[in-house]
Amino acid sequence: MAGLNRLLRARGSTIFSITRSCSSSLNSEIDLRAASSVNHQRLPLCGEREPKDRNVQWVFLGCPGVGKGTYASRLSNLLGVPHIATGDLVREELSSGGPLSSQLAQIVNQGKLVSDEIIINLLSRSLEAGVAQGKSGFILDGFPRTIRQAEILEGVTDIDLVINLKLREEALLAKCLGRRICSECGGNYNIACIDIKSENGSPGMYMAPLLPPPHCASKLIIPI
Ligand SMILES: [Zn+2]
Repeated sequence: MAGLNRLLRARGSTIFSITRSCSSSLNSEIDLRAASSVNHQRLPLCGEREPKDRNVQWVFLGCPGVGKGTYASRLSNLLGVPHIATGDLVREELSSGGPLSSQLAQIVNQGKLVSDEIIINLLSRSLEAGVAQGKSGFILDGFPRTIRQAEILEGVTDIDLVINLKLREEALLAKCLGRRICSECGGNYNIACIDIKSENGSPGMYMAPLLPPPHCASKLIIPI
């Protein structure tokens, strides 16, 4: 992640590095690093619209369990922009039997990582579909995951803001283990209650669980 931060800083993006330490509040510690903009050659994937003529084009990064999906989803609803999670794109392609589904099924069954090429392909299609429907802007969740993906993304579109969410390791582990999905409606919940006491000068931390409504409570499953 440090390498990606360096790359993104060097290439002129703006990065908010956010650490949640004493509470679940987003603004407990904000470290803003802005760098000067650099001119790049652009591919015409998302057009060359000025930021004032389109919606936000943001990227949310962070470890599994940090909450980037939750925040990206809430903000995308608030701002009216597509929330694009590459994990969802892979699952949708697999379940819809799209052109890459058999290749993806093979990769997933062998327990291998999905290649950058396939991820970029799925992402490009999703972005193009959004543009075709008259949508502008996006919040990318969990992408880019590698420096190469960041370089490719930079080549195809402008990114206005990168938010790198951070969380203490013990809280991350608890959040990952506490994940639950409703087997009926697909709703995402988290039963982990993070309550770390302050000790030896390090601050305590409390994060309430994200509990399901009563009609989902008996249908929760642990995601794979
Ligand atoms: Zn449900």
